[in-house]
Amino acid sequence: MFYNQNIDRIFTELKTSRHEGLTAKEAQARLEKYGRNEMQQDPPTPIWKIFIRSFKEPLVIILLLAVLLSLISGIYELTNGGDLQHARSSFYESIAIMILILINSGLSIWQTVNARKSLDSLKEMNNHQVSVLRDSSWEKMSATLLVPGDIIGVKMGDFIEADVRWFKVSELQVLEAHLTGESEPISKVTAELADETDLGDRKNMGYSGSTVTNGNGYAVIVATGMDTELGKIAGLLKNVPDSKTPIEKTINELTQKLMYVAAGVVLFTLVAGGFKTWLTTGTFSFTSFTAILSTAIALAVAAIPDALPAVLSIVLTIGAKVLSKSKGLIKSLNSVETLGSTTFIASDKTGTLTKNEMTVTRFFTNGIEFEVEGRGYEPLGEITPKDMTSARQFIVASILNNEANVSINETGNYVPFGNPTDVALVVLGLKCNIDRHELLNQKAEIDYDILRIFPFDSTRKMMSVVVKAGNEFKVLTKGAPDVLLSRADAKTDQHAFEMKVNKFASEALRTLAVGERIISEDEALNSTMEELENNISILGLAGIIDPPREEVKQSVETLHDASINVVMITGDHAKTAQAIAAKLGIISDDESQVIEGKQIDKMSDDELFNTVEDIRVYARVSPEHKQRIIKQLQRHGEVVAMTGDGVNDAPALRSADIGIAMGINGTDVTKESADLILLDDKFTTIEHSVAAGRTIFTNIKNFMRHELTTNVAEVLSLMFGLLFITRDIGHVSSSTPILTALMVLWVNMISDALPSFALGYDVPESDIMNKPPRDTHKTILDSKMMMRIVVRGVTMGLVVFGAFVLAARKGMQVEEAQTVAFLTLVFGQLWNVFDARSSKTLYHRNPFSNSKLIMAVAFSALSSLFVTMSPFFNEVMGTARLSAGVYLMLIFVPAIPVFLISGIKAVLLKGNLYEVTD
Ligand code: ATP
Repeated sequence: MFYNQNIDRIFTELKTSRHEGLTAKEAQARLEKYGRNEMQQDPPTPIWKIFIRSFKEPLVIILLLAVLLSLISGIYELTNGGDLQHARSSFYESIAIMILILINSGLSIWQTVNARKSLDSLKEMNNHQVSVLRDSSWEKMSATLLVPGDIIGVKMGDFIEADVRWFKVSELQVLEAHLTGESEPISKVTAELADETDLGDRKNMGYSGSTVTNGNGYAVIVATGMDTELGKIAGLLKNVPDSKTPIEKTINELTQKLMYVAAGVVLFTLVAGGFKTWLTTGTFSFTSFTAILSTAIALAVAAIPDALPAVLSIVLTIGAKVLSKSKGLIKSLNSVETLGSTTFIASDKTGTLTKNEMTVTRFFTNGIEFEVEGRGYEPLGEITPKDMTSARQFIVASILNNEANVSINETGNYVPFGNPTDVALVVLGLKCNIDRHELLNQKAEIDYDILRIFPFDSTRKMMSVVVKAGNEFKVLTKGAPDVLLSRADAKTDQHAFEMKVNKFASEALRTLAVGERIISEDEALNSTMEELENNISILGLAGIIDPPREEVKQSVETLHDASINVVMITGDHAKTAQAIAAKLGIISDDESQVIEGKQIDKMSDDELFNTVEDIRVYARVSPEHKQRIIKQLQRHGEVVAMTGDGVNDAPALRSADIGIAMGINGTDVTKESADLILLDDKFTTIEHSVAAGRTIFTNIKNFMRHELTTNVAEVLSLMFGLLFITRDIGHVSSSTPILTALMVLWVNMISDALPSFALGYDVPESDIMNKPPRDTHKTILDSKMMMRIVVRGVTMGLVVFGAFVLAARKGMQVEEAQTVAFLTLVFGQLWNVFDARSSKTLYHRNPFSNSKLIMAVAFSALSSLFVTMSPFFNEVMGTARLSAGVYLMLIFVPAIPVFLISGIKAVLLKGNLYEVTD
């Protein structure tokens, strides 16, 4: 029990110190003793379970059925003294199908392990960082390394990562709803409490999983991991079930449907085949039944895109990894898909569109406007006019009402600490030779003491401190000028300040007003923030430059080319926002595209709905406005990506289709609510992530199209054989299937799956960001895609069928004719890959731009040729070695229809008779 003890006793008990913290050595020893500060998870599903589970897949069940039928027919032949050769090939077929089933299970296992690993590494990257005092110095470290006895500091927006006892707080408020159900934030204290205080009333304690909604505080950790209150109630955290992405769901549904098709096709084959045999031979023997059965099995295998689900989930997982390399950390695979279809990007200004390196370049006080030279944090720069006596009060108020700092590092550079706006004021102070530390450490003529701090908050748009200045008590307030002016006393010359605000803002400067109010000691100690931030006497105005990031203009242009709308949402003044938006190309000097938060307040939802698509800049908005904007945009069917950095932004990030948080300056709470985290806080990373999302989606579409074309070609060629070969041709009997089940399996799982995989990694087409976003309401298998699949599948099916008939006519043996059909299919598809990877035609892409694809195609081609040449595979797969001339023909002839179809399409595209939509 720590809440009822004196804080000093706790320090002694936990063998730690509030000024030095633990030593690194002691912390390491405690980490070993108490374990990492994390919730234990259920052990992940063991590999053997994934293996067993893979046998429950419908596809595998069909294949197992095929094995069974094949075995039965083999055993029947053996025991009834039938065709020995046939019996042998039945056994081989069973074994080979079993091997392929095992390969499929292996793929499932590999995919699960791979997904697990990459999710773990994404989790690791998303680990919360905590400020910890170790060996007398503050450092940031992963929350998982915290141990009892550690001293931590938290501020607004942080998560509390362990159970703690507060020893220093400043207006600290914490939300503990997850433990107590209390939805209002609790104000924290440091004093010890009575013995029988309930958990919800232990105001001197902080609990793991709570969020800091206001102020800041320092605490000593008393429990970590499973020993925390959260750990006790949570027990073992259940593993989050893998949720499927929309594309994965579409594919699963498709595979299910194809199962029925496969079952129908098998039934049809048995009936039609039986009927055909009876018609052509007048009898129906077991041998003819087994021949029909092989066709049926081959067809069942042909109808299902075996490798598709595994390839798809692997590509999605890898896509998320690729994204994180481009500094966009994606938290769920669903978002990869959504990112590619984003139509509106609403971005914060400060830090994302601008550099967040603020410098005061002008200020206005006592009727005089001062100009300040020098940029950045180095406190060098002339100030004109030189006489600054009249500015002293304004500057002192600016730097006392401030928690920022600049210091010189080992390399002699000035580094900022704290809020950038505040840093700018501290630097201004130093340029005027007024140092905050000197004011507070009794080195100035008046002795200043800070009594209370009301931190900056983007809803209030103000920050205040209560100070004791000599014998006087004052509240110092600074914030958005319009807010301060609305709370100003009667003496303040509103008009003069408003004019200056407009002047500064139209020069793209961020504006900030500074004021003060003399109060009584009683007010200083007891009045609320609301009461104190009133009747302010405005001392002056600062104009702060925050230069736009150079690369953003280009990004905005690229996004506009991609028909994506870019919107700026800022707490800043409308004029400042407008000037910067114009510089970045977000607006063309058009004022009607700018709107202020207070105008939104006056609008009904329907009114906002009617204008929301035309507005490009929202100024002086609070986080609540963001949610309204998102809602109305979504009503228009827009897919909205929205950034946010403060605690209050979390709900908006959750309602956006893609919530985006800042990796460096964002709070834990926003990171937790976001779908995408910008590891470098840069707007350009959003653009890159959208482009990556589009690429991944297009690649998935391409390999799906490719795989499904193969399935259509296989089913059709087998069907054509079954229906149209009614007489024996040469050595080939009319009941022989065009392709054996093993050949079909080989194509699906090896010669076609590898290039499909490589398509999943393909580089984007050059025009990926020149097209409008994908319509999310349309399924991935839209009519255009179906059309492409059907046209190519039917053609390929006909060509394979034709090749088989021609081979039979030439007097080839059964195995030879089947091998001809097999290689025609293999090479037809290998050529087709190059057509599938372009939304236009194969003539539009450099075939060598994806080296993985070239390697996959080469491997598929060589291995497929090999299985026709090796006596072992001849025996197992029923292939046969052909002559060199035939091989040459089989490699190149299947290219003709592919080039022809692409050629026709190219001509149609050129004549604008055909439109590419994806
Ligand atoms: P964005 O939402 O794009 O990040 P922003 O950072 O300009 O915009 P806020 O941080 O909410 O928005 O700031 C809004 C206004 O509040 C600023 O224009 C400024 O006048 C005032 N302000 C900002 N920082 C402080 C601060 N530390 N102390 C007092 N007032 C501040």
